[in-house]
Amino acid sequence: MIHTRQVPISQLTSFQGEGYVSDVFVFDDAAEMAHYVAMHDACLILGKGSNTVFEPSDALSPIIQLSSQYKTPHFVGDTVHVGAGVGVNQLMSFSKETGFSGFEFMAGVPASVGGMIAMNFGCWGKEIVDMLVSVDVVLPDGTLVKKDVAELEFGYRFSSFQIEPWIVVSACFYGALKSPEEVKKDIFDNVNERVNSQPLRDKTFGSVFRNPPGLHAAQLLEDAGFKGYKKGRVMFSDQHANFMVNLGGATYSEVVALIQEARAAIVQSKGVHLMTEVVLVTL
Ligand SMILES: Cc1cc2nc3c(=O)[nH]c(=O)nc-3n(C[C@H](O)[C@H](O)[C@H](O)COP(=O)(O)OP(=O)(O)OC[C@H]3O[C@@H](n4cnc5c(N)ncnc54)[C@H](O)[C@@H]3O)c2cc1C
Repeated sequence: MIHTRQVPISQLTSFQGEGYVSDVFVFDDAAEMAHYVAMHDACLILGKGSNTVFEPSDALSPIIQLSSQYKTPHFVGDTVHVGAGVGVNQLMSFSKETGFSGFEFMAGVPASVGGMIAMNFGCWGKEIVDMLVSVDVVLPDGTLVKKDVAELEFGYRFSSFQIEPWIVVSACFYGALKSPEEVKKDIFDNVNERVNSQPLRDKTFGSVFRNPPGLHAAQLLEDAGFKGYKKGRVMFSDQHANFMVNLGGATYSEVVALIQEARAAIVQSKGVHLMTEVVLVTL
């Protein structure tokens, strides 16, 4: 386990906001993490931080992460087992090498397996739950249990992990086997598709708001004049209105203020209340 104090938020999240958090623990394996969880009342599980913005504070609960080297992707029979700290880049390397097909729709996103299960990551009509078989979970008392997908709830950008104090430590997925060349091409095409439609090279956390039923948050934001709208060091991307970009040195308060401004404008113009998709971590 590695314990680091006063960690810059820029190293923990893709948005790379300003400030520091006081304690980050990175565990080598699930048993080590389970032991820590059993001994501590409050802690915040973080994946790759691609959907998270922190309010800097010394009083935040310790942040815990699982090493990306814990259970790198490997076959168990026809299924693939992966640790929660493993990143999309590792999934892509594995898929390109082996021809395992299923993860390609995640290509280009700086997320972890645990974070994607917690958020039920999805795009282009696919969600991570569609290929999930089971999840190994740490309970607050440090017990490690396996949960089949049928024992868990999943919905649009929703999973049981948003309402239960459970931590994903690894997961089992099913997929298909294709030729590595075919998988490589699909990954390449998907990254291109994202680069053309999302500010992938910027400091961003992905979608700000969830899509309201039957509507698109990006369209609502665009119609209300927020595409490319900038305030201080934050901006709604001029490439995709539902992505917020850190122009350099952005603070938590600036993010929250811009979210509130957009939300109020859309309530007034359309009568729609937008719910955030990004996780705002505050005291
Ligand atoms: C350029 C870009 C493009 C994106 N495109 C998409 C997209 O197409 N579709 C989409 O759905 N999202 C997208 N996102 C958002 C983001 O990648 C997803 O929400 C992803 O699921 C977050 O994974 P993460 O590891 O970064 O999670 P984090 O930001 O680290 O955490 C997100 C939440 O999950 C919880 N969590 C993390 N790990 C665990 C765990 N092991 N056990 C339990 N809970 C955990 C955290 O506590 C937090 O509440 C995009 C983001 C970026 C930056």
